[in-house]
Amino acid sequence: SRSDITYFGAGPAALPTDVLEAASKALLDYNGTGLGIAEHSHRSELATNIINEAKADLANYLGFSPEQYEVIFMQAGGTGEFAASVYNLVGAWVSRQHAALKKELGDDEEAILAALRKKVETELKVDYIVTGGWSLKAYQEAQRLLGPEYVNLVADARTINGGKFGKIPDESTWKLSKDAAYVYFCDNETVDGVEFPSFPSILTPDANGNGPIVVADMSSNILSRRIPVNNHSLIFFGAQKNLGSTGVTVAILKKNFLPPHTVQPSPPLLRKLGLPIPPIVLQYEIIAKNNSLYNTLSIFDVYVAGQVLKKLLSTYPDKVDGQQAVAEKKASLIYGALEAHPEVYRIVPDKAVRSKMNICFRVTKNGDTDETEKAFLKAATALGLTGLKGHRSVGGIRASNYNSIPLEGAEKLAKVIDDFAKSS
Ligand code: PMP
Repeated sequence: SRSDITYFGAGPAALPTDVLEAASKALLDYNGTGLGIAEHSHRSELATNIINEAKADLANYLGFSPEQYEVIFMQAGGTGEFAASVYNLVGAWVSRQHAALKKELGDDEEAILAALRKKVETELKVDYIVTGGWSLKAYQEAQRLLGPEYVNLVADARTINGGKFGKIPDESTWKLSKDAAYVYFCDNETVDGVEFPSFPSILTPDANGNGPIVVADMSSNILSRRIPVNNHSLIFFGAQKNLGSTGVTVAILKKNFLPPHTVQPSPPLLRKLGLPIPPIVLQYEIIAKNNSLYNTLSIFDVYVAGQVLKKLLSTYPDKVDGQQAVAEKKASLIYGALEAHPEVYRIVPDKAVRSKMNICFRVTKNGDTDETEKAFLKAATALGLTGLKGHRSVGGIRASNYNSIPLEGAEKLAKVIDDFAKSS
């Protein structure tokens, strides 16, 4: 049964049982309305309340200002955000260049268009730091949508690690573009177990708040550690790991990128510039203007996310810092158990960039990795520890230490790691 299992899957992840119990009641009858939460109109007042509360609780828990950042719920997953970030931030770049040229050239639309075309050709760049499978996918999506000539590879972690992910290249080697439309990184690489130990200093804004436009994918570590939200223009994450059920994706967007500060270029202008036109459901401006209700949003999924946030807020008086301390404790228990047996376990990423959320390792005994890993998984499963198989692209073992894994779950895994090494 559910209480016998600790599920270490990488996503969808386990959700707190009390949240699911409340959700199962809400599915049948939400707050005594006689109608379930998935049946109520997304345009009802109760749906709007659920959205607004989840937005406010997210800002409160992570400690960012709702005056400066808009929270948007979308539906295309992390993968959809790979595309949305390209469309919206390249659009913002075009919009800024257009405004500057208008100032310079007045009302001469033809001259503006010619100058804008030239700028796109010679100056438009988007920057990607590739440290694992997910930032690689995002980089490839940018190349696919814009054309490779616009996409700059700032750093590829495989080049310093024998063709494999597992390290983060030193910032001094990063090749950032001058005035990129944005710089993209994935804070935690779910498949490769690589997490940025802290926000890259080279991307940190100066004392006046001026710095690069930064986009971060935090799908697999959001809500697990304090992040300097103010250093980012856009943070996105799918809900299905630390926040809630699969089906909603969240974008935290600096309001500078929304009207009245920035208005996205019109489709005819983008067409003239040879740039891609975003599908309307991926336009932050449209979704934000409609408080995430431009089209039918799964209010059930927002409700579950909201319940998880309420639980986190009531469990941890010091909010994300409290959860961070627990995540660190759990991760160090598991890494500690692995490190105690270097003859049996090899932790995949470099120590300096080990993820606290996705703990990736190999198991070898007597030179046999395949059979030993099967035996390890069997031993863990027998004790109710499941979901430990590594991603199909890299193999090995991966323990996803998301927020819903209790301390006892991490202790059990550490014990299995220790016992397995000592047996035979
Ligand atoms: N980014 C990261 C870091 C992920 O872990 C994942 C999914 N595991 C994605 C993006 C893609 O998310 P989705 O499957 O929701 O498109």
